[in-house]
Amino acid sequence: MKREASCSCGHLRLLCDGEPELVSMCHCIACQRRTGAPYGIAAFFSKTKVRVEGSYRTFRRSSDTGFDLLFHFCGDCGSTVFWEPLRKPDMFAVGIGSFGDPGFPGPAQEVHTEYRHHWVTPLPYRGS
Ligand SMILES: [Zn+2]
Ligand SMILES: [Zn+2]
Repeated sequence: MKREASCSCGHLRLLCDGEPELVSMCHCIACQRRTGAPYGIAAFFSKTKVRVEGSYRTFRRSSDTGFDLLFHFCGDCGSTVFWEPLRKPDMFAVGIGSFGDPGFPGPAQEVHTEYRHHWVTPLPYRGS
């Protein structure tokens, strides 16, 4: 299955082949600031399964794991569509909202739950 993720204006698009290796929900404050939402959800794809179309700009930040993250966003509309966690150098992370698909696979795990907003319901299941 091929899925397309895109920014708000459509200039930055990703074609992702096959199912994500992992879908993970993150409640950390950095994800909250990146998205403007109370959490971020990333779908991890092998870089070999992703084709990037269009140009992007990159914001690099450090993390408490000691590995930096490279966030790639559209220079026209500002949407962060995908990023590279240097802790997983063969993977791209793609924000699942960028697919515009309510049928997209849901998260198998949630992390940094200590920052979960008080009204957000914990996941009913835990993945690996
Ligand atoms: Zn855009
Ligand atoms: Zn996070």
